[in-house]
Amino acid sequence: MHDEARAEKLRRVPERTCMVCRVKRPKSELLRFVAGQDGLLPDPKQILPGRGCYVCLQGECKSQLRQGHCRSRKRRG
Ligand SMILES: [Zn+2]
Repeated sequence: MHDEARAEKLRRVPERTCMVCRVKRPKSELLRFVAGQDGLLPDPKQILPGRGCYVCLQGECKSQLRQGHCRSRKRRG
């Protein structure tokens, strides 16, 4: 294994998972959405309250995002 690759892993970049393609990416490569009453609101400044979800900035993920992707999974019982 290359040492550089290991160092890369140790570097602390906040990562989020794209809710559409399920790929982990640094937050800078993702766009935050918040689930609102009228659907999903883009939150580029990441200041909106509520449950957020993240989608790739690049590619088709944004157009494929559905409300269901942001839905919270509540486990009860
Ligand atoms: Zn994606």
